[in-house]
Amino acid sequence: MLELTVEQISMGQSAVDKSAALQLLADSLVADGLVAEGYLSGLQAREAQGSTFLGQGIAIPHGTPQTRDLVHVTGVRLLQFPEGVDWGDGQIVYLAIGIAAKSDEHLRLLQLLTRALGETDLGQALRRASSAEALLKLLQGAPQELALDAQMIGLGVVAEDFEELVWRGARLLRQADCVSNGFAAVLQQVEALPLGDGLWWLHSEQTVKRPGLAFVTPEKPIRYLGQPLHGLFCLASLGEAHQALLERLCALLIEGRGHELGRATSSRAVLEVLGGELPADWPSARITLANAHGLHARPAKELAQLAKSFEGDIRVRIVDAPGSAVSVKSLSKLLSLGARRGQVLEFIAEPSIAADALPALVAAVEEGLGEEVEPLPEVAPVSAPVEDPPVVLAAPTAGSQLQAIAAAPGIAVGPAHVQVAQAFDYPLRGQSAAVERQRLQEALGEVRKDIETLIQRSKAKAIREIFITHQEMLDDPELTDEVDSRLKLGESAEAGWMAVIEAAARQQESLQDVLLAERAADLRDIGRRVLAQLCGVQTLAEPDEPYVLVMDEVGPSDVARLDPARVAGILTARGGATAHSAIVARALGIPALVGAGAEVLLLAPGTTLLLDALRGRLHVAPDAAVLQRALQERDTREQRLHQAAEQRHQPALTADGHAVEVFANIGESAGVASAVEQGAEGIGLLRTELIFMAHPQAPDEATQEAEYRRVLDGLAGRPLVVRTLDVGGDKPLPYWPIAKEENPFLGVRGIRLTLQRPQIMESQLRALLRAADNRPLRIMFPMVGSVAEWRQARDMTERLRREIPVADLQLGIMIEVPSAALLAPVLAAEVDFFSVGTNDLTQYTLAIDRGHPTLSAQADGLHPAVLQLIDITVRAAHAHGKWVGVCGELAADPLAVPVLVGLGVDELSVAARSIPEVKARVRELALPAAQALARSALAVGSADEVRALVEAV
Ligand code: PEP
Ligand code: MG
Repeated sequence: MLELTVEQISMGQSAVDKSAALQLLADSLVADGLVAEGYLSGLQAREAQGSTFLGQGIAIPHGTPQTRDLVHVTGVRLLQFPEGVDWGDGQIVYLAIGIAAKSDEHLRLLQLLTRALGETDLGQALRRASSAEALLKLLQGAPQELALDAQMIGLGVVAEDFEELVWRGARLLRQADCVSNGFAAVLQQVEALPLGDGLWWLHSEQTVKRPGLAFVTPEKPIRYLGQPLHGLFCLASLGEAHQALLERLCALLIEGRGHELGRATSSRAVLEVLGGELPADWPSARITLANAHGLHARPAKELAQLAKSFEGDIRVRIVDAPGSAVSVKSLSKLLSLGARRGQVLEFIAEPSIAADALPALVAAVEEGLGEEVEPLPEVAPVSAPVEDPPVVLAAPTAGSQLQAIAAAPGIAVGPAHVQVAQAFDYPLRGQSAAVERQRLQEALGEVRKDIETLIQRSKAKAIREIFITHQEMLDDPELTDEVDSRLKLGESAEAGWMAVIEAAARQQESLQDVLLAERAADLRDIGRRVLAQLCGVQTLAEPDEPYVLVMDEVGPSDVARLDPARVAGILTARGGATAHSAIVARALGIPALVGAGAEVLLLAPGTTLLLDALRGRLHVAPDAAVLQRALQERDTREQRLHQAAEQRHQPALTADGHAVEVFANIGESAGVASAVEQGAEGIGLLRTELIFMAHPQAPDEATQEAEYRRVLDGLAGRPLVVRTLDVGGDKPLPYWPIAKEENPFLGVRGIRLTLQRPQIMESQLRALLRAADNRPLRIMFPMVGSVAEWRQARDMTERLRREIPVADLQLGIMIEVPSAALLAPVLAAEVDFFSVGTNDLTQYTLAIDRGHPTLSAQADGLHPAVLQLIDITVRAAHAHGKWVGVCGELAADPLAVPVLVGLGVDELSVAARSIPEVKARVRELALPAAQALARSALAVGSADEVRALVEAV
């Protein structure tokens, strides 16, 4: 999707004429890899067909369908020409936006620009803009439309006095995201203006985010300053957005129709009177748009011109799309629709002109608005889709065994507690506001009681706090008041409640702060609890004894919310070992099996499950002997773990004295103390992106330095291996927009991204070097796939090191891409170390998305193909006297440890909790036996065979 960012803007350009400007644009698109050489001819051909001048000093040069093949990546580049460039017909361009688009993505850009196009003096402002940021602001922050829709009208709201009514109005504005929290307080300070007919007006610009108008009427008569108060307007004022509405309102008051507003019984009536929406009885006509590239600038211009030949109001909207109708006479409004081929346009015209205007407009659209159009395909009679034969699922039978992925090691036994998302069926309209209000209150009361029990029962403070937050959410008067206004409009308690919860959750999600945004899941959680109560659907009570939680898939926050004292194990139908939920399960020490298949969701509640998350096996209602053996193994394992924990601070030496270092993986400085406490000999992977993700904006150098310093301080001289920022693709940062990609895992991520944004990488490297203070620092780069990438990153670091000397520094790369492993013999001569990221290396070697809901079960790092790559890496490194670590999840897999040690891996970096067990596992080995095992593993054909080999030892 096309979005505008400062990186795309080049300020202060100059060009003698349009053709020189096009040349500059083409050069910039080619240089940035968006298009191939030759795209210039497309830009020129397009201008020859018709000028791309949009108005307001802006032109949007783009290619033709013939040059689309030259587009590598969809994107834009913006050049500012402060001296102006004549674009023909005396139209002067101060900003040229060069578009490289493979399809109709540029319509989105036009939508973005339309707000700017409404600005009166934008051209001059663009010309004068002194920075890319200022220019972007002009494009994005230009006049906005006044927000006014049914959600912003509250009729008959409960309010005792004027202050309360003001508060209600302000809240509607806040819910529409027009204002920040303090707006109600701001309005209370403002002097209200009586408009006559019992209508009052309040406005302020303070804390306004976007212009909007709310209108509220009180349920019972109120008086204010000795006068009646039938309705109150609250305006969040920004620029001129409200001008037109204010004029209509004045006209209405002069006509003596003000009382229509105070007495209105529906928001639709208010909107009609205020002109926010069209009278329902205006004639309309529909036509499907057939233009190949939608309603882009040229056809839109034609349409607007035709509409202007009629004297009266004509609007258009897209059928079945959100958004209200816009004036057909306004080019910018038409573009803002972003209408595409195949969408149905509905024209709505004032009755006096409708008979002439509507057929003319429909005919013009039918004829293509000046473009050749391919007729739309006839809607073919829909033949029945070829369906896969239905898969009949049956619950696994007693005594059966299922293979799944061991995501967090351990053995668990307990009754199945199956949690499946239920579908709720409920009426949208309620019986009466009073009845629905009562039902809602009762449901809220019940859920409150349930949550109270959960609070009492939760031992972990963090979990108790989550439930306390849930309770506060339930008691939030804003939520319930909002539902109440919907009940008054006739909605059922279920519909009203869910609409308000969903709106609140979406608003929460849109917050920049990641932690706050995650609260959306909590809102939906309580939303469903209350809905279940309203629909009379019993949520299954949790078993009293520790149980095995069975779910389709668990999110990381679901896992984090679990009480390890109550949940003995986790079993999911979908998911993979390297999914983040699996990582959280490991951190909590709850044994987990994932990707077991949909049939586990059919298990009868209470069925005894034996979850063997050491071998990836599920036993359903096992017989007494199997259970007995497993429980014995669990006890022995616990004893072993206990012993392992006692020896966690001892080095990990094989029986014959070969040392393997065991390090910890952490995401932030807070983890370092417990890592050391668990016996870590160093940090083998600091995932720095988690530090970036925890901040609402990119943390500056000083903030980063302090964080890295804390980690090094906590390590007290032990080595720290830091991975530079690994984001992009599927792990975007909220404040760092990245173009959407079809295959994010194969796209701009890791080192590819940071090398494109060297300032971010440099600032991270500086912070790291400054924090080092002669302590052992190792820096590695993620996702390196070529020697050139490594050298570029190394050179940058070496250059900075000359500025900030560090005594004990090693530079290395992660081996996550097969090409890096295959190039290890070349890279080993230059790097100080390798660290194998088996999570990614496995997904790229086996071509299985590591988070794939069904396939990731097969993404097993013990696959001989992955082991071959590790073998190449270790041999190459050792030949040059360099060391190799493994920091992917495989390093903590008890069955993988002997193989990795046998392959010669020098360091294993695992979650802190796994350290004692991994060390103990190393101590059980003898190097020659492990080497023999590794050789056999390299010779078989599947991960299962490797696992069988290890188990047989
Ligand atoms: C890996 O890919 O193995 C790795 C350690 O990196 P991450 O899991 O953070 O992608
Ligand atoms: Mg990785």
